[in-house]
Amino acid sequence: MNIWTCLKCGKCCSSFVRTGPEVLLIEKKFILDSLHDSKIKAHIKNNHLKLVDIRRQINTGYLPLIGNEPPKKCIFRSKSNLCMIHKIKPEICKIFPVEVISPTSIIIDSECPRAEKIMKELKNHKYPRYIRDKINTKKSITIEGVHFFDRKMSERN
Ligand code: SF4
Ligand code: SF4
Repeated sequence: MNIWTCLKCGKCCSSFVRTGPEVLLIEKKFILDSLHDSKIKAHIKNNHLKLVDIRRQINTGYLPLIGNEPPKKCIFRSKSNLCMIHKIKPEICKIFPVEVISPTSIIIDSECPRAEKIMKELKNHKYPRYIRDKINTKKSITIEGVHFFDRKMSERN
């Protein structure tokens, strides 16, 4: 299988997101609009949550989490491990387990089962287009495996 194909294990929606996936300003409107969807409304209600609280949390710039810690899971992860806002999910989710920190620095979340293979591929300068567009391929790129959760927590402290 192509290593760039997600295995849909759902791990990232309940591991790296223990701090809540960040939502960019341009993504926020679409995600807030999705709260009008009847399936999403029902999902929120079934989790004993209020739409108004979910909306408020999204407005802080992070998707809300549910469940007991550890690990919590993203509110938009369905019972069958699927993303309920797949088409409009935040960039950080789209490119997981990769995060381009700067044009010369990439980190990979070691919790993703594909992390090791992806790291190997990147170290061999095999970049998919969405990564190539964000880096400076003429300079040497630092590629590092990290736990996104630990990193995000230390950033917040
Ligand atoms: S942890 Fe990796 S393989 Fe699993 S769903 Fe997330 S991105 Fe896909
Ligand atoms: S938005 Fe979707 S892909 Fe991202 S963490 Fe939530 S359920 Fe997972």
